Amino acid sequence: MSSESHSSKQSPNDVPSELDVALRAGIKQTARKTLLGRLLNGFDLQDIFSAEHHTPDFIETRSEYIATRVRFMAFFYAIAVPLWTPIDYFLLSHEHFRLIVWPKLILTLVLLPLGQQAVRGLSCKHLHIVFMLTVLTACLFHFASMLILNSGTPEPILAGYNYMPFMVVSMLGVFPLTINWSLTLISLILCCYLSLQAVLGRLIGMDTVNTLWTFCILAGIALWVQSSQLLVLLKLYRESSRDPLTGIINRRIMMKCLASKIKHANEGGSPFCILLFDLDRFKRINDNYGHLVGDKVLKAAAEVLQQGLREQDVVARFGGEEFLAVLPQCRYPDAIALAEGMRGDLNRTTVLTADGEEIRLSTSIGITEYEIGEEISTTLNRADEALYQAKETGRNRAVHRQSEHFSRL
Ligand code: GH3
Ligand code: MG
Ligand code: MG
Repeated sequence: MSSESHSSKQSPNDVPSELDVALRAGIKQTARKTLLGRLLNGFDLQDIFSAEHHTPDFIETRSEYIATRVRFMAFFYAIAVPLWTPIDYFLLSHEHFRLIVWPKLILTLVLLPLGQQAVRGLSCKHLHIVFMLTVLTACLFHFASMLILNSGTPEPILAGYNYMPFMVVSMLGVFPLTINWSLTLISLILCCYLSLQAVLGRLIGMDTVNTLWTFCILAGIALWVQSSQLLVLLKLYRESSRDPLTGIINRRIMMKCLASKIKHANEGGSPFCILLFDLDRFKRINDNYGHLVGDKVLKAAAEVLQQGLREQDVVARFGGEEFLAVLPQCRYPDAIALAEGMRGDLNRTTVLTADGEEIRLSTSIGITEYEIGEEISTTLNRADEALYQAKETGRNRAVHRQSEHFSRL
């Protein structure tokens, strides 16, 4: 099973942590060989359609971008709309000028605190609410101002107010939104606009058709720009989370995974074990056959390790020829059995050189279980000590080491 085909199948009794799901979802997120996938440069349509298959890590990163821009959007309208007041003073009738002050004041009073809410670290759900309220406030301002200015204000003077829905929909282009979320916002703007036209008795007419046509073009452009931004973000994010040689996750993401497992275990969740693999005499392979063959061996080893793991386990390239696997909901006996299984699989694996020579693989493995309350460095050191012992005692073996507390029990 390669990293690209790692499935997200889960037994009903396993409750995967968010990061478990994330890592498997992240692994799953590779190109489907469809025409559209190729057109999207290797990305699946579901990647840009909804956030369902994005990793929590990526969702957090994307939310930060969106939050900064929602903040800007809210402050922009809160400040720019009142700045229009001196122009209104000269252009509008006294009565209109007096009435339009109120929606402007309300817009500013609502958007300033809303903009302040849009900060980094805001949960995705809350960010969606703040974003939606910002867009809704701008739409309702347009609704109210058009009701006030509708009677007796010449068309050119209305322009600044008339263009509000177009401005809002165009502004959506600066957000790396998924298509379904973007369509929700576009529908909201459209509903407000159509309701206004209905109230003004202009729902049916060429003017509305023309306006809708312009609106759809702008919405289409906004969708295109958003999706492109999202794809670029996803591409950069994935490149920074995978090991380019083996395609499995890199050390950075593994450390996040470990942090999440520790949090889960310390909050009363299930125990987990780690396996630290180090290929035996790997330098010799490089020296005897060259680095390209060495790379081929690393790829083959990564593949074999992935195949040997359970669905809920995760393996990363931890260093040069070192791999680290995390086994959630796993105690020593199971971890040892899994490690021995993978060691055997590697022993049976051969890599062919260009001359047709067969290279046999072997690995030493350090096994340990996370002890509640300890630092991750302590767990990793223990696995490293076990690995060292495996090397010292002849290589091609798995050695487990328990925490001192565990050993005393
Ligand atoms: P031991 O059994 O004690 O682990 O011996 P070893 O030869 O495997 O260990 P050592 O640490 O001496 O050598 C590891 C080698 O892995 C050295 C380094 O050149 C090689 N290496 C690290 N990263 C890569 C890589 O990406 N590709 C290749 N081809 N070699 C790599
Ligand atoms: Mg090593
Ligand atoms: Mg080695």
